[in-house]
This record gives sequence, C-alpha cells and structure tokens, in this order.
Amino acid sequence: MLILLDIDGVLVSANSWKKPEFMEDGFPMFNARSVKALQRILSETNASVLLTTSHKSKYKVAQWKDLLKSRGISAKKIHRLTSNSLQTSRKDEILQWYNHKRIPNEEFVIIDDDKMLNDLPENIKQNLVLTTPSVGLTDDLADEAISILQKNVYHY
Ligand SMILES: [Mg+2]
Repeated sequence: MLILLDIDGVLVSANSWKKPEFMEDGFPMFNARSVKALQRILSETNASVLLTTSHKSKYKVAQWKDLLKSRGISAKKIHRLTSNSLQTSRKDEILQWYNHKRIPNEEFVIIDDDKMLNDLPENIKQNLVLTTPSVGLTDDLADEAISILQKNVYHY
C-alpha cells in the first residue's frame, strides 16, 4: 500500500494571513491534527509513503525520514517521486508515475490539495483524497484514505 503524499495544504495548512512557523531544521512545522490523522492512516494500513510535494528534491530520503520523524510521523518506507525538473503539473507527474512506476495491483491513495487532480482519469481519481489547503488533512479524510487503501481487504 502506498500513500502519494503532498505536504503544503495537507500537513502544512496554508494561511495567507499567518506566516508559517519553522522548526529548527528550517522546514515549516506541521499541523498537529493533520499529523495525527496521517499517523493513524500509517499505523492502520502500514502503507509506505511516496512524496509528491514540490519540496521533494530538497532533501535526500534519509533526511526526509528524520524530518518527518521529528514531526511525529514514522513510515515503514519513504520514497520520493523523481525530481520535477520540467516543472510539469502535479497531475502529469502522477500520471507518469501511474503509467511507468506503479507496482501493478498495489493499492494507493493520493493525498493532495491540488484541485487540478480532479481532472485525473476516473480510475485514478477514485484514489484521490483532496484536502482543503487552509485546513489540511482531517480525521474524516483519514477515514476516507484508509477505506481507499483497504477496499480490497475483505472482512469476515
Ligand atoms: Mg499542496
């Protein structure tokens, strides 16, 4: 199972009226409620994280691991999407991943605030959990993400 994870508008809520607070490592603080929601998805599904955020190339995977850990998020595995040097849209980056990199039949969920992802083809869009940029990931959206990841897990 895989979570395609954005950060701005998901873990860092975008308040235009408030300047972001940074941690010692120079990266913004995360929303406590959104961290809790993401950590619940991770512990209930044991999914890996694939960073799609525009910040993805700023740090190596090991540094991302530390950065997330110091904010209360521990994932079994963390990967980054290939750096986006051509500045393609998030939608096209995700399409490229889907067509060329995805492990067939692996369940995935896309957690992002980019409304252009509503234009993804229906079979991909059904794995999308869209956040409100000023709020970020919530508990209700975490439930949605968990049920997307577990849609093929049968309970008896
Ligand atoms: Mg975003």
